[in-house]
Amino acid sequence: MTRPPARAVRIVTLYPEVMNVYADRGNLFAVQARCSRLGIGCEVLPIGIGDSLPVEADLVLIGGGQDREQRRIALDLLAKGPVLRDWADADTAMLAVCGGFQLFGDFYRTAQGEELPGVRVFDAITVTPAPGAPRCIGDVLADAAIPEVGELVGFENHGGRTYLGPRGVPLARVRYGYGNNGDDGTEGAVYHEAIGTYLHGSLLPKNPALLDRLSFAALRHRYGADATFESFRDEYAERAHHAAADVARSRGRRNV
Ligand code: GLN
Repeated sequence: MTRPPARAVRIVTLYPEVMNVYADRGNLFAVQARCSRLGIGCEVLPIGIGDSLPVEADLVLIGGGQDREQRRIALDLLAKGPVLRDWADADTAMLAVCGGFQLFGDFYRTAQGEELPGVRVFDAITVTPAPGAPRCIGDVLADAAIPEVGELVGFENHGGRTYLGPRGVPLARVRYGYGNNGDDGTEGAVYHEAIGTYLHGSLLPKNPALLDRLSFAALRHRYGADATFESFRDEYAERAHHAAADVARSRGRRNV
């Protein structure tokens, strides 16, 4: 029998069976691998529709999904909203991708005009143009507003356009791709240690600096603000990052 590491962070994955497109589940594997190199375990709690949230969590992950999946989870997620907002205020690390990101804002309005209320972690709304409008699809290269995160790469595919409100802080500025709405050059959102983004990929395996940022935030939430953790170079992740950046440069939509 292998003994579990004495130290562990608690990771809540929201609706992992429903919200998981373009390998968003890989974000969890990347965090687990990162923590394991530090000798720290991960207690993973998958939370589905109807399940209660635990009393606390260090990291919350939610992936993307199409309108149908978002409809399935929206009301259940809304009921969890007050706890999620409290956690975000108390610096729980969070990563919400695409359809998950949209529902972490104020609301998501579909092309048919149906409005799904969100949990309001981010000051953002998402609206979809009339049916038939082009989707935002392609490879993305963006510069994070968080200095230690630097360049971000990923893949986006969304019909909804997200607009940040006055308290909304973008995660990045898009060099190639559409980002939040294809107009204002913003991509994603940041609130305390919570990150929302349109980038699939999986995102974290090929953005090691963002992986560090999110993992260290989760670890600080568990072990205190003064705790420090070693950063490792990950040659494969860096290579994957550069390959994805080259692809975005060669065939991504140039943002001028
Ligand atoms: N349904 C959303 C949209 O198309 C989200 C898509 C996704 O998560 N990939 O805007």
